[in-house]
Amino acid sequence: MRLSTITNWAYGATVALTLASGTTMLMASSAEETERAAVAQRSTFDQLTATLEEDVYRLTEQARGFVITSDPSHLIAYRREKAALKSVEARITHLRDAGASEGELAALRQALHWTDALTDEQQAAISAMQAGDDRTARTILFGDEYGRELDRVAAQVGKFQYMLDQRTDHAVARSTDTARQWRTMSEIMLGITALLFLCVLYFVLKQRILRPVVRLSDVVTRLAAQDYDAIPPDSNHADEIGDMAQAIRIFRENGLERQRLEQERDADRTMRDLLSRLTQRLQGCDSVNDLVDVVRRFAPEIAPDFPGRLYIHDNHRNAMTQACDWLSPTCSRIEFPPSACWALRRGQTHRPAGEMVDIPCEHLGASNSISTICIPLAAQSESIGMLYYEEPAGASASHLERTGKYLEMLAENIGLALANLRLRDALRDMAMADALTGLPNRRQFDIMLQTLVGEAERTAAPLVCLMVDIDHFKRFNDTYGHDAGDAVLRAVGGVLAESLRENGHAFRLGGEEFVVLMPGFSLDQALGRTMQIQRRIQDLRLDHRGKELGAITASFGLAAFPDHGRADRLMQTADAALLRAKTEGRDRILVATVRDGASAAA
Ligand code: GH3
Ligand code: MG
Ligand code: MG
Repeated sequence: MRLSTITNWAYGATVALTLASGTTMLMASSAEETERAAVAQRSTFDQLTATLEEDVYRLTEQARGFVITSDPSHLIAYRREKAALKSVEARITHLRDAGASEGELAALRQALHWTDALTDEQQAAISAMQAGDDRTARTILFGDEYGRELDRVAAQVGKFQYMLDQRTDHAVARSTDTARQWRTMSEIMLGITALLFLCVLYFVLKQRILRPVVRLSDVVTRLAAQDYDAIPPDSNHADEIGDMAQAIRIFRENGLERQRLEQERDADRTMRDLLSRLTQRLQGCDSVNDLVDVVRRFAPEIAPDFPGRLYIHDNHRNAMTQACDWLSPTCSRIEFPPSACWALRRGQTHRPAGEMVDIPCEHLGASNSISTICIPLAAQSESIGMLYYEEPAGASASHLERTGKYLEMLAENIGLALANLRLRDALRDMAMADALTGLPNRRQFDIMLQTLVGEAERTAAPLVCLMVDIDHFKRFNDTYGHDAGDAVLRAVGGVLAESLRENGHAFRLGGEEFVVLMPGFSLDQALGRTMQIQRRIQDLRLDHRGKELGAITASFGLAAFPDHGRADRLMQTADAALLRAKTEGRDRILVATVRDGASAAA
C-alpha cells in the first residue's frame, strides 16, 4: 500500500475519531443536563409538597384554638388559611405538569383526600362550637380518632415524598452514570485520537522525513567519496526533500559525466603515450624489417580488438605485399595490385560500413559481413603501403570512432617512418652508386671487399678480383667529346653488370676503371667469365651523334685467393696484373703471378 494512502487513511481515522469524541462529549453533556433536570424537578416537588403537612397542622391549630378559647380571631385566621389552600385537583394538576408519575399522584391524592376529611372534621368541630356544644367540638378535635387521622395524613405525605425521592434519586443516579460513561468514552476516544495522531505524526516524520533524510545523507557521503553506485531515492514529492533528492541526482549525473570524461581523457592519454612510444621506436628503425617488427608489436596494443595487416608497396612488382599481420584477420589477400584497393585509388581511408552505401575493395576476397578499414600509407602523394583493419562485431559507434582516430594516427606515423626509411635507402643507394653507370661505387666496393675478404679468410672459400681499365679512353673524350666518353663508360658498365648479374659484383672505381669481385669462382671459371666480358666489350659498337665511335677495348688483371697470396691484398695483386697487361700492349687478360701477390703484399 502506498505511503500516501496509509497517511490519508490515518488522517481520515483521526478526523472520524475526533468527531466521535465530540459526539460522546455532547452525549455526556446531555446526560448531565438530564441529571440537572431531575434534581430541579425534585426541588419543585419538594416545594409543592412541603407546605401540605404544615397547612394541615396550622388549620388544626387554629381550629383547636377557637374550640379552646372561643376567640373569633382563631376562626377568622382558620378561614383565611383555608381559603388560601388550593383545591386538591389544582395541586395534583400542577404536580402532573411538573412530571409526577401516576403512582406518586395517587399517593398524594390519598393524602389530600385524608386532609379534606380532616378539614371536614375541623369544620364540624367549629360548627359544634358555634352551636355551643363545645364538648363535642373538643371531642372531635382532641379525640384519638382525630390524632390518628392527622398521623395518617403525615404518613401519607411522607410516603409521597419518599416515592418522589426514590424516583428523583434513581433519575439522578442514572443520569450521573450515563454522564460518567459518556465522559469516560469521550476521554478514551480523545486519548485514542491523540495516540493515532501521534502515530501518524511519527509515521509521517519517519517515512517522509527521517528515512529519506538518512538515505540522502548516506548517498551524499558515498558520492563525496566518488562512489557513483550510490543512487538517490526516487522522491517525487514536491517538498524540500524532493528538491534535495533531485539536486543530489543532478550532482550524481554530473559526477558520472565528469568520471566518464576523466576515464576517456586517461584512456586517450595512455593511447597517446603509446603512439608517442611507437613513433620513437619507428624513428629508431634501421630497416623495413625493424619497422615491421615494431608495427606487429604495437598495432594490437593500440586497437586490441581490431585484427589487421600491414602492406608495403613492392616497386618492382607494383603490388601491395603483406609485411605482417596481427590478431588473425580473416579477409584480404596477402598480395594485390594497388588498383584493387579503393583507399589506395583515392588516397583516402576507405571504410565501407554502417548505413552508407559503399563498395568493398577487391582485395578483401569473398564478400562477407565483416566491416573493414583500409588506410593508405602515403609519402609525397605516393602510396607506399596500406594498413588494413577488421572492425569487431557489436562495438559501439563511439568506440569505433575513437579507435578510428588512433588508427589514422598510427597509419600517419607508420607512413612517415616508412617514407623516411625509403628516403634513407634512396640516399644511401645514391651515395653508394655511380650516377653515370648505375654500378656501385668505390665506397660500396670497399665495404663489399672487406666483407668478402673476411668471409673468404674465415671459410677458405675462393675469391677472385678482376681489375678492368678501358684502353686509351682519353681518346674518346678528346676525339668525340666528353659525352661520347660517358656513353662508352655506360656501355662498358652495362656489359659488366649484365655478365655478373647472378653471382658477381661489378663496381666503378672511378674514371674509366672498373673492378669485379667473384666470390666462389675458381680461377678458371673467372678467366672464362673475363674472356666473355672482353669479347662483349670488343663487340660494342657505339654511335654518338651519327658518328661511330670505333672499337672499344679494355685491359684485365685477374687475381685469386688463395692462389695469389693474401686475401686482403687481392685488389692490389689484380691491379699489378692489370698494370702488366697495359704495359704488355693492352686489350688482354693477365692472370696475376705469385710475384704480383708478393709485390702487392710488400
Ligand atoms: P690507358 O690506356 O693507359 O689507360 O690510357 P687512358 O687514356 O685510358 O688513361 P688516362 O688515365 O690517361 O685517361 C683517363 C681519362 O679519363 C682522363 C679523364 O679526363 C677521363 N675521364 C675520367 N673520368 C671521366 C668521366 O667520367 N667521363 C669522361 N668522359 N671522361 C673521364
Ligand atoms: Mg686508367
Ligand atoms: Mg685507360
